[in-house]
Amino acid sequence: MNNKIKLLDSSTINKIAAGEVVERPAAVVKELVENSLDASAGRIIVEIVNSGKEYIRITDDGHGIDPQDVESAFLRHATSKISEVEDLEKINSLGFRGEALASIVAVSKLDIITKTAYCQTGLKLSYEFGRLKSKDEVAAAEGTTIIVKDIFQNVPARKKFLKSDRAELVSISDIIDKIAIGHSNVKFEYTSNGKRMLSTPGDGKMLSAIRAVHGKDVMSSLIELEHECPGCTVSGYISSNSAYRSSRSCQYFFVNGRSVRSDMLSDCIQTAYRELLPIGKHAMCFINIDIRPDMVDVNIHPTKLEVKFTNEESLSACLKEGIGRALKGKELIPKYKTPA
Ligand code: ADP
Ligand code: MG
Repeated sequence: MNNKIKLLDSSTINKIAAGEVVERPAAVVKELVENSLDASAGRIIVEIVNSGKEYIRITDDGHGIDPQDVESAFLRHATSKISEVEDLEKINSLGFRGEALASIVAVSKLDIITKTAYCQTGLKLSYEFGRLKSKDEVAAAEGTTIIVKDIFQNVPARKKFLKSDRAELVSISDIIDKIAIGHSNVKFEYTSNGKRMLSTPGDGKMLSAIRAVHGKDVMSSLIELEHECPGCTVSGYISSNSAYRSSRSCQYFFVNGRSVRSDMLSDCIQTAYRELLPIGKHAMCFINIDIRPDMVDVNIHPTKLEVKFTNEESLSACLKEGIGRALKGKELIPKYKTPA
């Protein structure tokens, strides 16, 4: 009798996994830009056509990939960022799972051009849905360019799940805005269908990146925050109580440089502003949390958008205290009272 239980082949495994890591074009952009940041890029160019469904190109001036490593970079669980389980306790890079390139290459036509400082020429590899089609030496600047075309063409079920062009583009812009604000030392240039969407100066000032994304008015309504607690520093900007939003969409949190979603952190903001804002309104915030790597677990979700803190109470106390101090002494009028 034939065995009923079989190991899936790697192309099927990669297609299934791609559903988790790169469920939409914005996730591709996030993964590729994070790789550029991990490669110490100082400048990252993101070019999108048709909301990323047709074409995504990310160009960086980072350290590039060694010629002998380029093909391995596209294998599942292949990473240069960790090598043993203990490394998970002290992650300093944005990536470490070694899944993104393997997933993206399985569901798209992908070209990579990469060159390191000590190589005379660059290398260009072209893949079609996971299969290597060509590998050539090319002239290239130091760094890496990755082009992703026709995403999900070989996974029609997934393609059907993509939202409207507008919604997919908003999602890409949102991710780039967040990353650009979280990495103000890097110059970001982002275009969609040839139109300039964002350009940050890369001058290392978070306020400059906030201005590039949100404009001068938001920038000038902000108050600086800087507070240190054992094992953790919170810094960045929060809005004065005369500038607020009707949703939490302008609340940014970066944990060791990683943009994260966190109800716990948003709730801290809510509490800190309780008596300062009208009911149902939300403060804006751009907060860096630099925390000892062993006090946070980033490996709880494939997309790493959520993290788990070892000691939520102490972090929450630190954040609230920092906000309290930053707001103290500022002219916070009018003052709203929540009804008892
Ligand atoms: P991870 O980021 O988790 O290591 P990826 O699949 O995203 O996994 O990338 C695999 C490897 O390819 C990385 O560990 C890195 O060594 C290399 N790499 C990917 N993108 C770049 C880039 N833009 N510049 C330099 N190296 C890169
Ligand atoms: Mg990566």
